Amino acid sequence: MSTRGNLSPEQSFLFDFIDRNARAIALLGDNIFYFGELGMQEFETAKLMTGLLEKAGFKVERGISGFPTGFCATYGAGDPVVAIHTEYDSCPDNSQVAGVPEQRFIVEGAPGHCEGHNVNGAVLVATAIAARQAMERFGFKGTLKVFGGPAEEQLVSRPYFVRDGWFDDVDVAFHNHIGGEFSATHGLLQSALISATFTFHGETAHSGVAPWKGRDALDGVVLMDVGMAQYREHMRPEMRAHRVITNGGDQPNVIPRTAAVWWFFRDGNAEGATKLFEQAKKIAQGAALMSNTEVSIDVLSAVWPLRCNRTLAELLQRHIEPVGMPAWTSDEQALARALQENAKAKVEGLKREVSPLTGQSVPRTSANDAGDISWKVPMAKFYYPSNVPNINFHHWAAGAVLAHSIAHKGAVAGAKAFAAAVVECFSNPAVVAEARRTFKDELAGVQYKPMLPAGQKPPVELNRAIMEKFRPAMAKHYLKELPEFTP
Ligand SMILES: [Zn+2]
Repeated sequence: MSTRGNLSPEQSFLFDFIDRNARAIALLGDNIFYFGELGMQEFETAKLMTGLLEKAGFKVERGISGFPTGFCATYGAGDPVVAIHTEYDSCPDNSQVAGVPEQRFIVEGAPGHCEGHNVNGAVLVATAIAARQAMERFGFKGTLKVFGGPAEEQLVSRPYFVRDGWFDDVDVAFHNHIGGEFSATHGLLQSALISATFTFHGETAHSGVAPWKGRDALDGVVLMDVGMAQYREHMRPEMRAHRVITNGGDQPNVIPRTAAVWWFFRDGNAEGATKLFEQAKKIAQGAALMSNTEVSIDVLSAVWPLRCNRTLAELLQRHIEPVGMPAWTSDEQALARALQENAKAKVEGLKREVSPLTGQSVPRTSANDAGDISWKVPMAKFYYPSNVPNINFHHWAAGAVLAHSIAHKGAVAGAKAFAAAVVECFSNPAVVAEARRTFKDELAGVQYKPMLPAGQKPPVELNRAIMEKFRPAMAKHYLKELPEFTP
């Protein structure tokens, strides 16, 4: 950690607040870790987060855009309007005991955090409460909006928020995400994505006695798969099409009346993802024609690629540097190395230096549903060091330190830099004006319009069955102690 000699009064105030509340931040992340809730089912998580924000003086609107576990919490009034947002969902089949370097389930087969969205939620709330305290203490004018975005792993909520006008009055926005490094980046970071289900409809029959009387919906799914596999020859390297069959029928002696497949289509820009989806629709129609079935198509989400504004990335970097990396203990380094070894990743322990600011012009093939926000208003995303470097997310090893001192220390560092950057938007409105100016240049004439269909409703049933199956066993591991922030 750097010395405190050169800190501004706002930074000193915020860093003291966050250090004083380090235990609450750790407990919040750990509580969410043990909730382990999948997208659209983050009921305990959202309840805990919104309760803390309300207690700290935020006005909380729950259920925004029809998302039962989404929220917008507001503090202050007038300009500038600064929005901060993140996600807090888990992944299926990744239940992992904290602090051990080998795969060990808390509840076998259950969902679990294996990326760190639990810590994202803790950093968001800590940042919000710290920034709000500073606004009051220093008399800064403006509005802080805190958005909770459900189901990031299914890329669902934030395009709905943007489509429904929740960002119409926002001046600048920030997104916090866990990583193995402490960094800010500007430019094009992630791909566009369309998520859609294709449901084929046929007619049942006895598969042994009179199969010729049936129309097999699963044939439609399989033929679409064949068509997509052939089409891959014509896809550019940055394009992706991948799927899971969510309904393949019930038993072999009944020809399935319905069958369904869930596809993700990715490309570097919204236009490319849309073209790929249009091609997939043709292939689905062909599959229906061949199998004497009908197909219905439902878009779950459609997101623009994520891009970050240079001015806001520089602002974050300015506040990341004085915070510096956490001082890791030798035990923490040993655990990180053991995890890297067991995950067959490059073994180099935890990072000791913050990363320099970088620019990027080619998006990665990952996506994040915050993409739409980043074309609507200037936005920046930063990574704070609460996970182990070099380990791929969605693997048990990426879940092993998420309720552990590594995550706790990274969250404190992340919240300090984040809160200081947010507060500078209120203390120095010129930075907001500059971000809006550079944003206009960066858009280079691209007109944002949502890819999400106008009348599309959120998929509120998503993951409900899995969560209902595992929640009783998972609930036995919920923590007894709840976080409390003290001003
Ligand atoms: Zn994530």
